[in-house]
Amino acid sequence: MGAGLAGGRAAVELRAQGFTGSIVLLGAEEHPPYDRPPLSKGVLSGRLEETTLPLDLGGVEVRLGQRATGLRPGTVETDAGPLAYDGLVLATGAAPVTLPGDGPQRVLRTIDDARGLRDALKPGVRLVVVGAGWIGAEVATIAAKIGAEVTVIEAAASPLQVALGGEVGGQTVPWYAEAGVDLRLGVSVREIGPQALVLGDGEVLAADEVVVGVGVRPDTAWLAESGLVLDRGVVADEHLAASWSADGPPVVVVGDCAAWWSRRYDRRLRVEHWDCAQGSPAVAAATLLGGEAVYDPVPYFWSEQFGRMVQVVGLAGAGDTRVWRGDPGAVTAPEARRAPGWSVGWFAPDGRLSAIATVNRPMDAVAARRLIAADAVVDAERFTDLAIPLKDLATA
Ligand SMILES: Cc1cc2nc3c(=O)[nH]c(=O)nc-3n(C[C@H](O)[C@H](O)[C@H](O)COP(=O)(O)OP(=O)(O)OC[C@H]3O[C@@H](n4cnc5c(N)ncnc54)[C@H](O)[C@@H]3O)c2cc1C
Repeated sequence: MGAGLAGGRAAVELRAQGFTGSIVLLGAEEHPPYDRPPLSKGVLSGRLEETTLPLDLGGVEVRLGQRATGLRPGTVETDAGPLAYDGLVLATGAAPVTLPGDGPQRVLRTIDDARGLRDALKPGVRLVVVGAGWIGAEVATIAAKIGAEVTVIEAAASPLQVALGGEVGGQTVPWYAEAGVDLRLGVSVREIGPQALVLGDGEVLAADEVVVGVGVRPDTAWLAESGLVLDRGVVADEHLAASWSADGPPVVVVGDCAAWWSRRYDRRLRVEHWDCAQGSPAVAAATLLGGEAVYDPVPYFWSEQFGRMVQVVGLAGAGDTRVWRGDPGAVTAPEARRAPGWSVGWFAPDGRLSAIATVNRPMDAVAARRLIAADAVVDAERFTDLAIPLKDLATA
């Protein structure tokens, strides 16, 4: 259920792993599975029109424009009638959170959202973006390039505060100014009215277009009565098997809607990143076919904002120490092509590198992914020296 990247990949994996029975891929949108990261990049800028995924869905019955509405053991209720199953993959992804108010607000989740916003973005249009997270920063990047008058409203004291913390996220503040974007931090939005936003202090901010990028929630409302365990996603074990007290055919969960048990982190994770939607279906398919594979990735995410490539690998722990690699104040402007960029690492008390954020340093991200997956202890002192390749810094 759900014909996004994770659902489409699950169908492909089932075939690749030898399943010869019938597969139905059911999706609420009218589009076959497509890639979402380009929506806030190439599609918004007009460089790309289509992002259909190159998945081999021959032999898969793809039903588009149909929505699952309920679930009981062995049967999915859909708006086109009941559908019996012997094994089920849940892949309904996530849906954007919206704000109160009766004024028009755009979100950016689907290709239709992206095309609609692209058509609305014109030079001089007053665009207000609510939220300086990943989506907000990417929308502001493209809109400013097009010549829109862009204001970004963020309730926290820095961009990317939830993902990276205030000090690291704060390093991106100058990027907004450099692009001519008015970034207003520590400002909340009370409601969206017609052609204006009402801010927390009562100020009314005029806007021709409003884009709300304040996060997503797993799209699992249709499972509320199913008896599946739901807790900010569909709860699953390390094999991606959903927790269900009901006796019935097996159910697995993949992608943005999965809240699975991570052996690596010894807790439940839900990761709304492309890499998870790409990687989890292989394990889920194996589980559905009776295997024992374990899903336990090091989380990975990238974002292209204000001409920079930002990559984040791993998960920082509460007791970690932060170590800078290079100078976060150094020039990383897109035109400074030879600038070395910078990274920041989070080190666990035992010396293991637990997470890294990199700006224009893709080789750091690649190396860190390996080091973190291997639980490597990394020389924190030498980590600060950009001249030493990160891959050479493991001490144990
Ligand atoms: C604009 C944008 C930019 C992004 N950029 C990046 C990036 O740079 N890097 C990165 O790592 N990640 C990025 N992501 C995140 C990444 O795209 C997602 O993690 C990924 O798409 C999740 O895939 P999924 O298949 O789990 O869910 P989705 O892609 O959400 O697909 C789920 C599908 O299920 C359908 N569905 C929902 N409910 C039902 C139902 N009841 N019945 C039937 N169908 C249903 C939905 O309509 C949807 O088509 C971005 C996401 C967006 C929206």
